[in-house]
Amino acid sequence: LSRSPAITAKIFRHAHEVPGETAVSFRDRTFSWQEFGSLVRCSARDLQRRGVGRGDRVAILLTNRPEFLVLTAAAAALGAISVPINFRLTRGEVAYIIDNVSPEILFTEHGARDLAAAAVQDAQSSPVVIDCDDVDLLTVSEYPDGELGDDECFVPEAGDDYAIIHTSGTTGNPKGAVITHGGIFACSAQVANRWALSSGDGVVMLAPPLFHIGTFLACHGAIAGGATSLVIPSAGFDPAETLQTMKRFAVTAAFMVPQQWQLLCEEIERTGAEGLALTHANWGGAPASEKLLERMKVCMPSTEVKASFGQTETTGYGVGLEFEDSLRKPGSVGKPADDMAVRVVDAEMNDVAVGEVGEIVYRGVGVMSRYWRNPDATAEAFRGGWFHSGDLVRRDDEGFIYVVDRLKDMIISGGENIYCAEIENALAWHPDIAEVSIVGRPDEKWGEVPVACIVPKDPTSPPDLQSVRAYLKDRLASYKHPKDVRIVEAFPRSGIGKIQKTVLRDVVESR
Ligand code: ATP
Repeated sequence: LSRSPAITAKIFRHAHEVPGETAVSFRDRTFSWQEFGSLVRCSARDLQRRGVGRGDRVAILLTNRPEFLVLTAAAAALGAISVPINFRLTRGEVAYIIDNVSPEILFTEHGARDLAAAAVQDAQSSPVVIDCDDVDLLTVSEYPDGELGDDECFVPEAGDDYAIIHTSGTTGNPKGAVITHGGIFACSAQVANRWALSSGDGVVMLAPPLFHIGTFLACHGAIAGGATSLVIPSAGFDPAETLQTMKRFAVTAAFMVPQQWQLLCEEIERTGAEGLALTHANWGGAPASEKLLERMKVCMPSTEVKASFGQTETTGYGVGLEFEDSLRKPGSVGKPADDMAVRVVDAEMNDVAVGEVGEIVYRGVGVMSRYWRNPDATAEAFRGGWFHSGDLVRRDDEGFIYVVDRLKDMIISGGENIYCAEIENALAWHPDIAEVSIVGRPDEKWGEVPVACIVPKDPTSPPDLQSVRAYLKDRLASYKHPKDVRIVEAFPRSGIGKIQKTVLRDVVESR
């Protein structure tokens, strides 16, 4: 087992080596590694008794709570595949996922019980539904059948299926990216290493929803390293509460999207960083402006700010920027992860020159094995033998990657490519703008034109188009200047807090 990429073996090893240290902390409860290891073994035995075995799917429709971690590990100990589901999806979307993966069991909770019941009613498959608020999955003595033994644990190969995580499916139905044992093992080891986690040392805050790959990977990083997973109930992001929690629980590492870091910085500016034990602030999931990165460094002078760039299909990690490099490579998301080969290519799969824009494609243990039951999408994504990310980047002469845009967000105006991030980055410094997002709007003359959606600093005097264009005059070529400004109160955001450009585009078009 020790040579197998088994993340559950890590749990059992910590239970043996540091039994009394805290594995999981949630509200006012803590679970030692010994307790957590036993819960995983008991839960695995329980799943086995319910007929779950190798290759079966275990769906998890839960907010952030310890059962999420226990069930994922228990499923893996049997060679079953966990399927985290976004609890903010609609009934139809959940039904689609249930039919796509046909799980044996679906775990839910009071808050999502109606959603789960309605989705199961609509679906063709009929999993057993278990409400985690009706049964106690967090007390060892509540499991009558005891623990799964070492010799019964599934010993995975690198390519075996670990979890299926559905991408949001902005075009068409969601696709289930199949994360492998080798992928989660390798990526979580790197996370543990990047965040300097070790047995009984380090507290990882899991604030964004666990169904999202960023938090899913962060929690596995904590497991790999033997650090504490501080599970935060995922009921929206409250910066004041988050900062207090970070101080109170001496959080050492956290992964959040740029907007959450921005709100946290504002809170720190208001109330101070005293008592903050954070050593690693990892941002990713969406572009961050250089302005924000500078602000993070000023607000949290004792914290190493690091970037991760990747996607669900690369187990959340593909490229990363280390603290040492962040000073001399501002704006870069860093270099490929260990075990990850990347190329930057044009549409014909030719490598583009240094400094030129191309799509980043990946190969490596962290890349998903396939889209679940979707051979066409798999073949399309892996054309030429490389996973096509849909992300446009540039690479410098030292191999550092700079994100340019997502292919699907790029605007083509009068035959010129316009990259939203470039405009967003420039406007981030505008004195009257709190947040900005650029989207394309169809245009008869130019095909498409950029529109600036702006959350103003002061809603009573928002910037107008003229001031935006005047600001960009000497900063960007005029064809990149927004042709319209749309003032919004707040941006539509996905479960993890990313701006939903598809929704913004609809808003802009409907005007
Ligand atoms: P969809 O499901 O529509 O593909 P998603 O945002 O829900 O999108 P994820 O896998 O969570 O799916 O997001 C991955 C994307 O997020 C990447 O392809 C990239 O465009 C963007 N992204 C991730 N990290 C960064 C980063 N550090 N900087 C800029 N963009 C990033």
